[in-house]
Amino acid sequence: VVDVSNVYKSYYLGEEEVPILKGVNFKIHKGDFVAIVGPSGSGKSTLMNLLGCLDRPTSGLIAVNGQDINQLDDNELAHLRGMEIGFIFQQFNLIPRLTAYENVMLPTYASKKEGIDYPEKAKSLLKMVGLEDRMKHKPSELSGGQCQRVAVARALINDPAILLADEPTGNLDSKTSEEVMDYFRKLNQSGSTIIMITHNNELAVQTDRVITIRDGQITLDVPAVEFVEHMKKEQLAVMEQLAA
Ligand code: ATP
Ligand code: MG
Repeated sequence: VVDVSNVYKSYYLGEEEVPILKGVNFKIHKGDFVAIVGPSGSGKSTLMNLLGCLDRPTSGLIAVNGQDINQLDDNELAHLRGMEIGFIFQQFNLIPRLTAYENVMLPTYASKKEGIDYPEKAKSLLKMVGLEDRMKHKPSELSGGQCQRVAVARALINDPAILLADEPTGNLDSKTSEEVMDYFRKLNQSGSTIIMITHNNELAVQTDRVITIRDGQITLDVPAVEFVEHMKKEQLAVMEQLAA
């Protein structure tokens, strides 16, 4: 579904080029459930913005459903996003003027599928994230974790073929995190592809595959079970160092 090939991304501060992603390669297949982990500043959100067609690489290829995003104009890119991709932003990106319910309904104004009762669906998603009594609240009247839950519900309203989630549980207590993970798993079992950024190794190992990124490069791309082994080895190495 997503093909990332030799991707570089730099930001420009005045004249100065600051390289962030330095030759990233991987393929995501339909139905994959992938976690991306890595230290703060390693380029995870930068990568996610590229996967979500919100930005273009400086060089290299990103193809979504076989379409090279550099070949698409801004309108085509927006259409691809609307039809295929659900995005949970690290900073939520809720619209301040709109209520929780209206924020969840927002994606359906741009692209609707036939035969779905969206108002009903919005309510049931808000209920799933525990906000049935907060539907009429605006973001400024909600806590950080509650805003995050609105963002989760909004990303799911269109049953996206590809769900990109940037720290979707970063502000949530462990019970709500688990509920969100359960929902992701169900969505994945019904065919959606999920790419989730997380700092939480315990959540990462609940996916199928873990990609680690460090300083703009992929350092590991393994099945989740292997990642568990890898973590154990690292812990052991640390303990041996301490004992020596
Ligand atoms: P975190 O875990 O803290 O969210 P991250 O891995 O998501 O970190 P990014 O947001 O991708 O990290 O940022 C990677 C680097 O790029 C950082 O050093 C950041 O300062 C820089 N950066 C990000 N966005 C921009 C921008 N729009 N312009 C300039 N530099 C940027
Ligand atoms: Mg980030």
